[in-house]
Amino acid sequence: MTARPSKIVCIGRNYRAHAAEMGNDVPAEPLIFLKPPSSVIADGEPIRLPALSGQVEYEGEIAVVMGARASHVTEREAEGLVRGIAAFNDVTARDLQRRDSQWTRAKGFDTFAPVGAEYARTEDWGVLTVITRVNGVERQRAQAGLMVFAIPKLIAFISSIMTLEPGDLIATGTPAGVGRLTSGDTVEVEIQGPDTRTVSRVGNPVVAGE
Ligand code: MG
Repeated sequence: MTARPSKIVCIGRNYRAHAAEMGNDVPAEPLIFLKPPSSVIADGEPIRLPALSGQVEYEGEIAVVMGARASHVTEREAEGLVRGIAAFNDVTARDLQRRDSQWTRAKGFDTFAPVGAEYARTEDWGVLTVITRVNGVERQRAQAGLMVFAIPKLIAFISSIMTLEPGDLIATGTPAGVGRLTSGDTVEVEIQGPDTRTVSRVGNPVVAGE
């Protein structure tokens, strides 16, 4: 990340298996929420576990980086407005997410949005694979083709609600296998292209915060 995005739009329950592991159905239309720009950290920076939460979890995701302003665009137009993709960790205070009726607190702590280096472009988003490892052990793996709502659909949908600006991030949802982070862990999210080449990764140590 070179500059802070003006906003991070996140998608909830966009993989059937993850919705099921949380006891939810998939939504009839994209479920969106926001993380604040102040939550962004880069590769290598620590995720700080807030004292307010006893259950902080990783959510490995594919983030789309917008390259142009988008307002009321079609799915077809949306594809040409993307600048790249990046590995993203939608760090979540799961206990607070359950306690609150909306997710601003659970998703919005400082350091809760690790973002990897941006990969310039990809021809076919459906074949990207997101992988999450904790202390080197694989915990999540899924192809983008399994998304309930594909990336062009997400961009068009969000742009019908709010104007997307260059540099804005869309975190496209996490697959099954979410789990807890504790102090001393290292968590890594990797995005692979069709030839299993790494196109973006973000790795972060986990430390006690305040
Ligand atoms: Mg998420």
